[in-house]
Amino acid sequence: MQEPTFFAQTRPVALYVHIPFCERKCPYCDFNSYAGFTHLYDAFTEALEREIRAWGERLGRPVLRSVFLGGGTPTVLALHHLEVILRAVYDAFSLSPQVEISVEANPGTTDRPLFKGLRDVGVNRLSLGAQSFRDEELTFLGRIHTAADILHALEEARRVGFENVNLDLIYGLPAQPLSHWQGNVRRALELAPEHLSCYALTVESGTPLARWVAEGRVPPPDDDVQGEMYEWTREALERAGYVHYEISNWARPGRMSVHNRVYWQHEPYLGVGPGAHSFDGTYRWWNLLSPQAYVRRLTEGRSPVAGWEHLSTDVLQGEMMILGLRLLVEGVDRSRFFRRFGRDPVDVFSEPLQRFQRWGLVRVTEDRILLTPRAYAVANRVFQAFLPATEGVSG
Ligand code: SF4
Repeated sequence: MQEPTFFAQTRPVALYVHIPFCERKCPYCDFNSYAGFTHLYDAFTEALEREIRAWGERLGRPVLRSVFLGGGTPTVLALHHLEVILRAVYDAFSLSPQVEISVEANPGTTDRPLFKGLRDVGVNRLSLGAQSFRDEELTFLGRIHTAADILHALEEARRVGFENVNLDLIYGLPAQPLSHWQGNVRRALELAPEHLSCYALTVESGTPLARWVAEGRVPPPDDDVQGEMYEWTREALERAGYVHYEISNWARPGRMSVHNRVYWQHEPYLGVGPGAHSFDGTYRWWNLLSPQAYVRRLTEGRSPVAGWEHLSTDVLQGEMMILGLRLLVEGVDRSRFFRRFGRDPVDVFSEPLQRFQRWGLVRVTEDRILLTPRAYAVANRVFQAFLPATEGVSG
């Protein structure tokens, strides 16, 4: 089927750039990332530059609120690769004056010259994959860094002027006691990051971790323990002055992730790089997963898009509810929903909303729909009620 015209009526407000390389593949990870591809870095950077410039030209240099280089591990590339990529972004797009430009970095792949170079090329937010401050946990997770590397990376980042840093942490490792997780959070708080993302370890099918669990070599993560850790984290971070603004994300006031908020607000975004997804308010589409195939297509002057889906109104409304409910302080803005679909979400979803209100899981105010704290740990089950049974047309 021929590719439809994307962004026919909208323009992206955020750009996601996927760098699909890592130094080593972590055993729990099912992201589109590959180790041992250093030979492809130059050709990949060229292909990515081509994709970025082509989009900018096609869309007439739209204004971006955020740019996010994620992965994978963007910082496995050399600084000169990252500079080429960011310069292409600046040429191809306009940037709003308060634009957030984030790069994901893993301790062990960074040093001061790299951080300095990123600052010099306009990066103003770092997201560090810390995961744990216990070396034995980092080893279990297959991470290439130690706890000391995290401290060193953060110190270097601060020294060159990064004032907006996120730390990613993972909780609920097999047999991890609550006290170890509490120690990780306390250590993170001592480092005073502006933002913290805390994710429960999940066993994704097809990963080495899934095999270890299936073979009985590793116990599966315990839901009750993860629930207890989550509740403790919520209280601890709130006490420390962080705003719990999304189910897995906490920020100092004013330091919410601009980029992720675009997703949660269901606004249009463009994704470039292998496997990256894009959304224009009508279509969702995605690029080829394989970095080699991606490079080949772009080198031949062809589109790297692998598939697309036309989203029906039912799907769009359900998505706007699910994503909006993830924002714990803002929730779903009823008038924004009405402006978009011509109906109040309270009418569209009257049955599940009444049910969840009765159960104390959802709160409906004059202008918003919000999850109650009781729903945070079971949010995925609440979200299912907003998904339509049928999906749109795909290609
Ligand atoms: S560093 Fe991140 S993206 Fe890379 S393999 Fe590990 S978890 Fe996956």
